[in-house]
Amino acid sequence: MRRLRFLLPYFKPYRSILLAGLLWLLVTDVLGLLGPWLLKVGIDAVQQHRAQTLYGAGLLLAVMALLRYATRSRSRHCFLHTACRLENDLRQHLLARLLQQGGSFFDRYRTGDLLSRFTNDIGNLRTLAGFGLMIFVNTLMVYGMTLVVLLGMSPVLTLVALLPYPLLFLLTRYLSSRLLAASAKVQRGLGQVSETLEEGIGGHAVIRSYGLRSLRGAYFDTLNERYLHASLVLARLRNAIGPSMALIAPLGTLLVLYFGGRRVIDQQLSLGELVAFNAYLVQLTMPTLMLGWILGLVQRGAASAERLADILQLQQPPKGLPIAQRQGPPAVCFRNLTFGYVDKPVLRDLQLEVAPGSLIGVAGPTGSGKSTLLRLLAGLYVPEPEQLFIDGRDLTQLDGGAYRQRVAMVPQEGRLFSGSLRDNLLYAVPDADDNLLQKVVEAVCLQDDIAGFAQGFDTRVGEGGQALSGGQRQRVCLGRALARDAGLWLLDDPFSHLDAATAQSVWRQLRRWLVGKTVFLASGQASLLAGADRIVVLDAGRLVESGTYDALRAQKGVYARLLEKERLQRELEGLS
Ligand code: ADP
Repeated sequence: MRRLRFLLPYFKPYRSILLAGLLWLLVTDVLGLLGPWLLKVGIDAVQQHRAQTLYGAGLLLAVMALLRYATRSRSRHCFLHTACRLENDLRQHLLARLLQQGGSFFDRYRTGDLLSRFTNDIGNLRTLAGFGLMIFVNTLMVYGMTLVVLLGMSPVLTLVALLPYPLLFLLTRYLSSRLLAASAKVQRGLGQVSETLEEGIGGHAVIRSYGLRSLRGAYFDTLNERYLHASLVLARLRNAIGPSMALIAPLGTLLVLYFGGRRVIDQQLSLGELVAFNAYLVQLTMPTLMLGWILGLVQRGAASAERLADILQLQQPPKGLPIAQRQGPPAVCFRNLTFGYVDKPVLRDLQLEVAPGSLIGVAGPTGSGKSTLLRLLAGLYVPEPEQLFIDGRDLTQLDGGAYRQRVAMVPQEGRLFSGSLRDNLLYAVPDADDNLLQKVVEAVCLQDDIAGFAQGFDTRVGEGGQALSGGQRQRVCLGRALARDAGLWLLDDPFSHLDAATAQSVWRQLRRWLVGKTVFLASGQASLLAGADRIVVLDAGRLVESGTYDALRAQKGVYARLLEKERLQRELEGLS
């Protein structure tokens, strides 16, 4: 229950509508109490041959049913409306908290797991906060009021009649917990089936080319079988609940009939009173059954609450110092920076000072830490304090959101969003006009490609940009960054999918845009960095060389060897 406490503030904005729901529920239940009493009046009237009273009672019963229909609908609306709003607020908070997280968070959580928190867990809490809360309050009210009436009619008969109820409650409780376990199994099974399906669809080309269709198919069949089995167990349990209840619930009626009937014979009770007594008792059956169901719901809700609290309680990034809004190029300084994703350092003891407006080439073999360096600069991962400075200020102290406004990052595998080419190119500046669009497209040499598309800028790029070639995707990512006029540019191997000639011409165009900006260009193609003001070379996370292209070439160190390797590769390609 304690785990559910975090939901309370979410109810706060809807206090008045919830209160209205409570009042409507109260009216519904009070009207409900009148039903058995009218029944008693009617039956007693039959016995005393008073037709007028009988018709009156019948009429009132009909009116009452109509009134209850109206009040119950109102109360349901209030509770369920609150639950939908609460679900919406919760989802928004969750998303906001998620988007505040850095790269290490997304390394920790799997996409499927996060999605299931957004759908299943939030859904569970909505059911609990809406339907669950309503049924719970209703049960309390009905129990409270009905017991008072029953005890008023006959305390002894009430105790006798309630004898089977603990049994009914325990049985529901037992079945609910089994139901819960079974439905968790079904959920897990469904999750595995969907995950495998998603992987199968996304990776269909790999599966085909490796000839793994039958193997993957068999694996899928196994999971599907498991899911089917779990679903059948669940269905069997669900089917068992109704008949078990039907077996126990009439026990109370039987006892009332026997003991109450004798009282009627002894003329201690009227026949109408006996029927009314029984009708009140029947009114308790449903809430008792529901109570067991609610307990299951609370258990499930508590588990979901814990999974959501995991994310909602994540530390909010500190607000940080405001940073100047100007888009000018910043100075960057690494002071003995050491950084690792988990525990092993990936960058070690990095010392580097970069003047505003410099173009820095970052070279090094694969896995040497080039992307990591750029990710730190982009604020995607947080370094230790006092190790990375922007314009002389510690990056960890700056306001993250404002800082990222100054940064344009082109990651190695840039992601496109399903939509048109125009949407993607102007993703960061949706209000920009076609003028900017044209300029950006020319800067990344995409004009010929776009002219070749029947729909031009309106061409849909497909999920993740799959309708484009790797090189086109990469240039759209570059264009997307260009459209945003930032002071600090972080280009992580942005030409890896382009052939050497296209890479050179895109780079020539781009350089004109980047004059006066602080630029870090990491590239696996060492020769591409020739025009940089300075090239820094990483090897196993250490900065091993730094200097101009000519100086490094003459030094005959790591960079010179990388250049030599590329030259040999080109020659080999030329020969073949
Ligand atoms: P480069 O860009 O030079 O190829 P990276 O910066 O991508 O090098 O990687 C440097 C090292 O950090 C590699 O050993 C890689 O395995 C590790 N690494 C990169 N990203 C992560 C991550 N998200 N979690 C854990 N280790 C990572």
